[in-house]
Amino acid sequence: MPYQDIISKLKKSGLKGRSGSSFPTGLKWESVKNAKAKKKYIICNAAEGEPEVFKDDFILKNYPEKVVEGIKIALKTIDNSSAYIYINKNYFKKYGQKLKKIIRKLPIEIFQKKTEFGAYIGGEETSIIESIEGKRAEPRQKPPHPTQNGLFGFPTLVNNVETFYYVSKITEGKYENTRFYSISGEVNNKGVFELSEDLTVKEVLEQTENWPEFDFFAQIGGGGEGEIFLPQELDKPIQYLASIIIFDKKKTDPYGLMGKWVDFLMKGNCDNCAPCREGLYRIKEMIDKKKMEKETLDDLFLVLEETSFCPLGKGSTIPFKSLIDKILK
Ligand code: SF4
Repeated sequence: MPYQDIISKLKKSGLKGRSGSSFPTGLKWESVKNAKAKKKYIICNAAEGEPEVFKDDFILKNYPEKVVEGIKIALKTIDNSSAYIYINKNYFKKYGQKLKKIIRKLPIEIFQKKTEFGAYIGGEETSIIESIEGKRAEPRQKPPHPTQNGLFGFPTLVNNVETFYYVSKITEGKYENTRFYSISGEVNNKGVFELSEDLTVKEVLEQTENWPEFDFFAQIGGGGEGEIFLPQELDKPIQYLASIIIFDKKKTDPYGLMGKWVDFLMKGNCDNCAPCREGLYRIKEMIDKKKMEKETLDDLFLVLEETSFCPLGKGSTIPFKSLIDKILK
C-alpha cells in the first residue's frame, strides 16, 4: 500500500490510541506529518507499569514483528524521522534481544526506562520525552503538544505498543475493531484476551469464562487508578480501558487494598507538585490508621483533582472515592 494512503486508512478505521488517552491515531499521525520541521521523532511506549495491566507484555511476547512493522510504517509515513522504543527494564530483559534482531538496520533505538523515581509517571508521554533527553522523568506543561514540540523540540509521535500493533493490522486489511484486555484477580481464567472493543464488562467476563459465582466487585482500568464497580454496574462497554480485576468481596480487606494503591501512587509519582505529593501522603496516613475522615478526605480529593499538575494526581482519587462510596460505606 502506498504510504500516503495510511493516514486516511487510520482515520477510516477509527483507531484510537491504546495508552488510555483515546486520541484518534490518524489525526495524531497527520499532525506530526504536517508539522514543519527538519527532523521528527517517533516513540513507541513499551513502559507499561500499572499493576495488573499486562497486555503490552503479551503483545511484545507474541507479536513483536507486528509492533516493529507498525513503527516502520510510521517511519515511512513521516519524513526525516527516526524512532525510539521506550521500554521498561523487565520487558527489555525479556524482549530486548528479539526486538534488536527484528529491527536490524532500521533507524529505531531501544531506550531503557530509568526507574529511580517517578516509576509510573515515567510512562506518560511528556515524561518519556524528558527521560530520553536525559532529564528527570517529569510531565511537561501542555500545550505545546509533543506532535508540535516534542523530543529535542521537534514534532514527535508517541503511540504505545498496542497502537503500533493495530497500525500493522490496519495496513494488512485485518483490523476487526478488537482490543486487548488484561483480566486478573479472583478469576478462573487469568490472562490477556483479544476481543471486540464494543463489549460490556459483563460480556468480556462471560466470553472469557471469568464471570464470578460469588459476591464480588471489579476494578476497571488498572490496579493503580482504576475505578471500582459493583456487579450490577458492569452491563456497559469499557472502551479504551485495558484491565479488569476481580475481587472477592468477603475476602478483600478494603484498607489493605487502598494501602496497595496509595503505595503504588506514592512510588509512581514524580513528587514535583505539592497537591499530589502531600495529598497522597495524607491519604496514606488515614489508611494506616484505618480511619477515613470524610470531611478531610473530601477536601483532599478536591485539591488533588483541581490543582494537581498532571493526570496522575488528578485521577488518583478515582479508586479511593469509588471504593469508599461502594464498599466501605
Ligand atoms: S500530579 Fe504532580 S507530583 Fe503527581 S505525578 Fe503529576 S506532576 Fe508529578
